[in-house]
Amino acid sequence: MEINGAAHNVCFFPHLKDIKAFSKEMQKHIKNITLSTQRSDISGYELIDIVEKYNGILIPAHAFTPHKSYYGNCVDSLKDVFKEKFNKIFALELGLSADTYLADMISELENITFVTNSDAHSLPKIAREYNKMQLEDISFKEVVMALKNENGRKILANYGLDPKLGKYHRTYCDNCNTTIETKEPVQKCPKCGSDKVTFGVFDRIELIRDKKESKSPANRPQYIYQIPLQFVPGMGGKSIDKLLANFGTEMTILHKLSKDDIEAVVGEKLAENIVRAREGKMHIQSGGGGIYGKVSNG
Ligand SMILES: [Zn+2]
Ligand SMILES: [Zn+2]
Repeated sequence: MEINGAAHNVCFFPHLKDIKAFSKEMQKHIKNITLSTQRSDISGYELIDIVEKYNGILIPAHAFTPHKSYYGNCVDSLKDVFKEKFNKIFALELGLSADTYLADMISELENITFVTNSDAHSLPKIAREYNKMQLEDISFKEVVMALKNENGRKILANYGLDPKLGKYHRTYCDNCNTTIETKEPVQKCPKCGSDKVTFGVFDRIELIRDKKESKSPANRPQYIYQIPLQFVPGMGGKSIDKLLANFGTEMTILHKLSKDDIEAVVGEKLAENIVRAREGKMHIQSGGGGIYGKVSNG
């Protein structure tokens, strides 16, 4: 079977010298390797051997997005890419537009750990999504054990966007600029009839799922939805700066502080919106076609 398409991977290595050696070998397959987002002509099937040669691990990134991912752009089954090496894939990055619930509609992912983290497209957004891990100490070896769910090491929770907020959650018509929210996935825009549509992650999973309903394995950690400050209605850059200056990290503000503490810095209305977002009480309009979803008081 011939496979077309392009996919991003996140590769982690234990030492800088491994990364350097890996990059050196990849120069054979990539033009201008020092520029960002360069493409190489090798498949995931070949890449995983090169990553392993330099002691690294490979994780498919934002696995369902329409332009650069295995499920979104290449295949219906990861096994078609990795074949007998499929058991070397022990973790998969969900991307902004999917969550555990959606990914657990695909049976071949049952024994694969889900991670929620950036693949480094944008430096300021690198920790917007993250994983909480159970480790003995902070080392590459321990992280790999957690990703493999070995010796009590594990992912304790995934922190990610509500997938509706993601830039590619639903199919989008590039002709009339409308997000298409039909129950069944469509290849043509129901409004203008154009077939120039960018497929959504929700719609793609609906097409390739082989389970009747989503069912997570018992060891699947909780997926904790978060609405970053920049999405909170009424929140401007100055208010975000003030909050960060007072409380240090966005995680603290989103998940831990009381309404009173937030209110003391940015006033009642914004404090209420942050707490309502935390409690899942906001209305979310789905994103699509590269445009984030929108949060409102509903
Ligand atoms: Zn990417
Ligand atoms: Zn249209």
